[in-house]
Amino acid sequence: MITATAASTITGRNFIAGRWRAPGERNLESHNPAHWSEILGTFPKASAEEVAQAVMAAREAFPAWRRTSRIHRAELFDNLAQLVKRDVDALALLMARECGKVVSECRAEVIEGLHMIQYVFGTGRMPIGELLASEIADKDTCMRRKPWGVVAVITPWNFPFAVPLWMLGPSLLEGNTAIFKPSEDTPAIGQRLVELFEEAGFPAGTINLLHGEAETGEALVRHPGVNVVLFTGSYDVGQRIQQLSAEHSDRIVACEMGSKSAVIVCEDARLDLAVTCSIISSFKTSGQRCVSAGRILVAEKLFDQFAERFVATAKRLRIGDPLESANFTGPVIHPAAMEKIERYNELARREGAKVLLEGGRAKDNGRSDGCYLRPFVYRMEHRPGLRSIREEVFGPHLALIPFRTNEDAVRIYNDTEYGLSMAVITEDYRTMRLFREECDYGMGYVNLPCIGAEVHLPFGGVKKSGNGHPSAAGLIETVTHKTAWTVNFGTEVKMAQGLTTEIEGSPS
Ligand code: NAD
Repeated sequence: MITATAASTITGRNFIAGRWRAPGERNLESHNPAHWSEILGTFPKASAEEVAQAVMAAREAFPAWRRTSRIHRAELFDNLAQLVKRDVDALALLMARECGKVVSECRAEVIEGLHMIQYVFGTGRMPIGELLASEIADKDTCMRRKPWGVVAVITPWNFPFAVPLWMLGPSLLEGNTAIFKPSEDTPAIGQRLVELFEEAGFPAGTINLLHGEAETGEALVRHPGVNVVLFTGSYDVGQRIQQLSAEHSDRIVACEMGSKSAVIVCEDARLDLAVTCSIISSFKTSGQRCVSAGRILVAEKLFDQFAERFVATAKRLRIGDPLESANFTGPVIHPAAMEKIERYNELARREGAKVLLEGGRAKDNGRSDGCYLRPFVYRMEHRPGLRSIREEVFGPHLALIPFRTNEDAVRIYNDTEYGLSMAVITEDYRTMRLFREECDYGMGYVNLPCIGAEVHLPFGGVKKSGNGHPSAAGLIETVTHKTAWTVNFGTEVKMAQGLTTEIEGSPS
């Protein structure tokens, strides 16, 4: 079992057909972003052969699993909920060490995962279809949902516990079997989750685990034995997965991808509320949430006052050791992410940014091997085509953009290829309605930060942010197909739409 003590080094294993495989020869390492030289464990990169074995195991487990009582399947999720409750603190600690999020935030993520498990357990006794009226009085007709078969679940590093559960939960409850490939940046927490599924009593082959990078993920997507691919991650990878899946005519693909989310601070906004919402939206998780705001649009009349308060607050944010709950944020995920964010800081300068707060590297208690970055904040006048205010940066990089009218704000907000999350700060119900109707988004908030998910709501976006299959509770639609079933209770055949049952040539 994986433990979270600083001294232990984790041995990673793939889990196929209910068996933990021997450690591999081709491995990847999991680092602690707060102390990059600390290696948490070594994890095997699954080969194409192991991918095929996992798909075979999931296919073989599918018939028995789909025939198992739905309520029994749900009860296994109740077992899982008890185990997660038992392990909340250990899971949060492991997550904080592996992905650098502050431990209190990791705890909140574990609770969010628990909420998904509880939701799934609850839906076990809910209807699996609908009774519908027939055009013929003697017929009964109904819609029933059926599972597709084998589901591949490919997930990002930034929500390594909750996001896999958003996908694995509905998939398994509905009778599908699953192959889970966690991010190569957070394999330990992914493996711990599968250990808990095993302990909860999920039968061999119903959930399989493959560690690896793009090569493993791609082998899984290419495999013809996979019926559904559930992906959460960046747009480029999601696009590649959709292209590869187009080879399979019977493939369902759900992609939840990146964003350039925004908070819109209107002229009548309460300043304190606006600053709090904007700081949380931009810098919680070091700006590494899919819904993180990379842009704050501020009414021109309020701009100077808002910018002064916002920058003063951003300067004071405590950045440091993720194991200390008092810190507001920890490091970013890895050195390559630091370099990418710094390149965007430079790009913004070249595109004409007026820098209000210099970013740059930070140290934690004098240690220099942590991936710590301070917030970079700048004023940018909106012009079409500026990459820094249109592309996802995924880090503490923020543009404050002034606007004149609410209609201008709608235009500026929509001037990005993404459409995931937005918040509007206003006291006016007509203003709120304008943004609700005219902006492109999947999740909208009023007088709140643009982050924060509740598992019973759909979670998804439009444009480059999603392909129309929202995650969490919304996923039940994607992991099942709807069938129609019609029964005749009469003793003769009656047809609708004026069709007769007379068969030409038959004796009258
Ligand atoms: P990523 O796209 O780099 O990786 C995601 C997963 O895809 C990983 O498991 C990775 O190994 C796998 N992968 C990479 N190349 C692949 C390929 N060719 N074929 C199959 N699988 C492949 O994303 P990341 O850096 O882990 O996470 C950050 C991104 O995720 C950001 O863009 C963020 O906005 C997005 N995200 C979106 C949501 C959402 O719900 N919309 C939630 C969380 C994160």
